[in-house]
Amino acid sequence: MLILADAVIESLGIIHRPGCLRINGDAISEVGSSLSPHPGEEVLRLPGLTIAPGFINLHAHLELSSLANTLSPTNTFTDWLRQIIPLLPGLTPEVRRRSIIQSSQNALLSGTTSLLSITSDVSTLSGLTSTATRVWWALEFMDIHAPADPAEGLDRVTAWLARHPTSAWHLALSPHAPYTASPSLFQELGRLANLHHLPFTTHLAESTDETQLLCGKKSPLQDLLPADLKRDDFSGNRSSLDWCRRHQALPPRPILAHLNELSESDLPYLHETHATVVHCPSSHRWFQRNSFQADLLRAHKIPICLGTDSPASSLNLKLDLRQEIRLFQETLPSLTSEEAWTSLTTTPARALQLEDKLGTLQVGHWADWIGWKIPAHQDPVSWILQSHDPAQVSCVAGRITQHDPI
Ligand SMILES: [Zn+2]
Repeated sequence: MLILADAVIESLGIIHRPGCLRINGDAISEVGSSLSPHPGEEVLRLPGLTIAPGFINLHAHLELSSLANTLSPTNTFTDWLRQIIPLLPGLTPEVRRRSIIQSSQNALLSGTTSLLSITSDVSTLSGLTSTATRVWWALEFMDIHAPADPAEGLDRVTAWLARHPTSAWHLALSPHAPYTASPSLFQELGRLANLHHLPFTTHLAESTDETQLLCGKKSPLQDLLPADLKRDDFSGNRSSLDWCRRHQALPPRPILAHLNELSESDLPYLHETHATVVHCPSSHRWFQRNSFQADLLRAHKIPICLGTDSPASSLNLKLDLRQEIRLFQETLPSLTSEEAWTSLTTTPARALQLEDKLGTLQVGHWADWIGWKIPAHQDPVSWILQSHDPAQVSCVAGRITQHDPI
């Protein structure tokens, strides 16, 4: 199939005008400015549109969107946990599936074609047949109340995935956080992630409550943990990352959500593990956290990507990554449009170890793109990042959806 548009942003710095994109199945087979249709080839004309790579959201909870506007902002993380824990049993698999479907549609409309979504209840996935975006289902495990069996959970979801070969779905593994998952559970999930070549992600250094707990100080989080919990690893650590280092909790290339609590002494371990940090600016603001140490991470060349987290702890109800990048730029005025674009495209593609498939529209990459209507004489990259407009057309794994009459 040949798509003819006003422009195609192949990658930062390579823009074809006019823009032509040939897709074959779920992949891009040609890109340029003067491609002609083959005899009998389907042609989609998109006059006035610029085709750009879709964004990648590296931290979301698609299944929690029904909790939008139910919780109140608090400045202690433990108080927020106290609010959300009683609500979780009411989120039946049916409610969670509805959230997933609605949220992935919203995300696609704002330019996101890939999401890494934390999945705490795998029974939600049975009965789900499609999502608007490509999704990495990050199976979440904890073992504070009962032992976890990640290998069994992984087998079940692998069988479910095999029944949906065309759904653009992938797997990832995720211990919830150091205070709910033991070092041995982290290690087991890291081992499985390595064995099956799956991304590994976790919530880390999210709050001062967590840091206090892991450093053996008095923390309100202690009151939420089972009274008979035996964890001798909650002392002797200097930080959450130090807990990971001392207990060999992270496999290579971990994707670390939040890292709101970061000190200079954590940087060598971030380097050593080739970690990627996922910042969630809306959630950060919702909790009124201390400033995110973006400059420190940038100075040490630690990759930063963005996530939306969930509407249970953010006002970004439609999982719009452009909203996240604008908030990030407010707190970090030195962030250029090019850096912002990279943090939503090629950097997360590399974190997923799929830089040869995602993040740009080069030949051989997956056909995951968005068609935007950009006013004349605008820089397309800056315009897309600043825009509040919905996408006009989207394509995920070669499946095209026209959102508005053109
Ligand atoms: Zn989260």
